[in-house]
Amino acid sequence: METVANFIHGACVTGNSSRVQAIFNPATGMQIRQVAMSSAQQTEQAIAAAQQAFSAWARQTPLKRARVMFRFKSLLEEHMDSLAKLISEEHGKVYSDAVGELTRGLEVVEFACGIAHLQKGEHSANVGTGVDSYSLMQPLGVCAGITPFNFPAMVPMWMFPVALATGNTFVLKPSEKDPSLALRLAQLLKEAGLPDGVFNVVQGDKEAVDVLLTDPRVQAVSFVGSTPIAEYIYQTACAHGKRCQALGGAKNHCILMPDADMEMAANAIMGAAYGAAGERCMALSVVVAVGDNTADELCARLEQQIAKLRVGPGLTSGPENEMGPLISAAHRAKVLGYIDSGESQGAKLRVDGRGLKLAGYEDGYFVGPTLFDNVTPEMTIYKEEIFGPVLCVVRVADYRSAIELINQHEYGNGSAIFTRDGGTARRFGEDVQAGMVGVNVPIPVPMAFHSFGGWKRSIFGPLNVHGSDGVRFYTRMKTITARWPESSQQQSAAFSMPTLS
Ligand code: NAD
Repeated sequence: METVANFIHGACVTGNSSRVQAIFNPATGMQIRQVAMSSAQQTEQAIAAAQQAFSAWARQTPLKRARVMFRFKSLLEEHMDSLAKLISEEHGKVYSDAVGELTRGLEVVEFACGIAHLQKGEHSANVGTGVDSYSLMQPLGVCAGITPFNFPAMVPMWMFPVALATGNTFVLKPSEKDPSLALRLAQLLKEAGLPDGVFNVVQGDKEAVDVLLTDPRVQAVSFVGSTPIAEYIYQTACAHGKRCQALGGAKNHCILMPDADMEMAANAIMGAAYGAAGERCMALSVVVAVGDNTADELCARLEQQIAKLRVGPGLTSGPENEMGPLISAAHRAKVLGYIDSGESQGAKLRVDGRGLKLAGYEDGYFVGPTLFDNVTPEMTIYKEEIFGPVLCVVRVADYRSAIELINQHEYGNGSAIFTRDGGTARRFGEDVQAGMVGVNVPIPVPMAFHSFGGWKRSIFGPLNVHGSDGVRFYTRMKTITARWPESSQQQSAAFSMPTLS
């Protein structure tokens, strides 16, 4: 059985704790490889490699660092097919969705290629007579990334391209459920010319994570995953004096107004609710329909479309499926439990995905697309993140009730509105308490040159990932005030607070 390795100082090394975890193909339920968890001591070795590589890498010119990113971009394009297949094999998502995830990560690499421009500081001539001020945006040192299973390529690439391009070194701790992609990214970075030790991968669990959160050599921690772990990461990293950005879970709502283009909205909602089997932090899991007629029409359209949705393995020789399996047997059982609870708490189950069986894939972790109507805010399926193909429709009387409902939810990652009314859309943009907002766009994931992040318990820490926030997160500003004295202008000592003029 192949064991997925760590990547430390440019070489593959197998994890040396006593814990080994099986990796499954979610479409078949068969074990395909295993990953050995790293010990605390091995994690420290990765940090030491990153620390040792830091000063030389930080001294490289931004253009030289950008050139590594340009070569890495070309390699990602060249290997797109095999990388997408690897994602699909370990995660389960369909091939085209894996290509989409890689492309969104690639876009952050493209953003990082412009680092010479992005890392320019500010300059003011003559802040006082003959005195200039300018700022340097300097790298921090060793940065760590801890990432979830649902985007094994894109989420790490939200982080390390910006961290590396700004001159930091990096230790990535990917999800133990689909760890192979991170190792491939490390190998491609080396092939692109990245010096050994600048980027390291540590496979592992809490033992490795806790070292990254407490080791004084680590300067900053980026995390993406569930909210309870995000909160723990943020509190622990901050308590150890580190910068931290920790992105958590979500329950993304959209408002469906009676004047919306219903065909467009239904198509958009289908893709956003059931794409990647709902295992996206920006998945749309609640539709707040304004008026009974709106809810009735939407549900009727969704029922028709769900009946045609192609569910099956992510990799096929025939026509591509639209929705794959969930990540694990345990997660499948959890999602099925949520469907049971929605039914027992009185929601109307309009489409039940529990009985799905696929010939030839009987042991795969599939759950069919599920639609609940008449969901109310006290129900567990409304309150909690299900992270599966389960869409809840809540009925309200008017826009005001819809926005109040959304704003009372503990999560605030993304939110959208479907309407033809510009005034309502504008009001929604101002009113809604969420970090990423769509107008007739169901999954408003910002592009690489903007920043990604939610509000409320969907994020801990002030700075979002990539875009200008990413550059700020991975650099610290130093402001230099300089005077070059001329012999004719010698000044005597001053003891009051200096003011320049
Ligand atoms: P998770 O929180 O279980 O795991 C995330 C990472 O934390 C993994 O690397 C894991 O090994 C590590 N981890 C888990 N438990 C830990 C512990 N006790 N101590 C230290 N480290 C621990 O999340 P997941 O199941 O892999 O991913 C799904 C979650 O991620 C969902 O809640 C989803 O909404 C969220 N997510 C959020 C975003 C976002 O941008 N906000 C993006 C993707 C996923």
